[in-house]
Amino acid sequence: MIKITASGRPNELLRKAAALSGQDLFACYQCGTCSAGCPMVAEMDLLPDQLIRHVLFGMSDALESTAIWVCASCYLCDERCPRGIDVSKIMEALRQIWLRQNEDYVHVAQLPKETLAELPPIALVANFRKNTG
Ligand code: SF4
Ligand code: SF4
Repeated sequence: MIKITASGRPNELLRKAAALSGQDLFACYQCGTCSAGCPMVAEMDLLPDQLIRHVLFGMSDALESTAIWVCASCYLCDERCPRGIDVSKIMEALRQIWLRQNEDYVHVAQLPKETLAELPPIALVANFRKNTG
């Protein structure tokens, strides 16, 4: 269930994250238990509890965080959260939101002609599949 903010409306990032994950992010009381047990925190710029806080405030840096990509979906945080929040589902939701921005990272028109002439076509096709929206 999505609860509302003090302004009367959930921010857009929170609304999407809650809808895709099915989790009530407002239930998090920032105890840090999820981060304390996470085996991937050394590689994260935002810890899982911090990530939830940033989403609650609608901060777009949550989508740029390394945390959402290095999360190993080990479910330890889900098991330990005293509020019954599946943090791994929130991580997955944030990955989905990021991917659905459909951002293109390769623009053929901007590639030098010399580069295009040297590249095997399959390299371009494979790159398009991976890096375009
Ligand atoms: S363990 Fe649960 S309640 Fe505690 S910070 Fe993590 S998500 Fe929030
Ligand atoms: S599911 Fe992800 S965030 Fe949770 S403990 Fe495992 S690696 Fe950390």
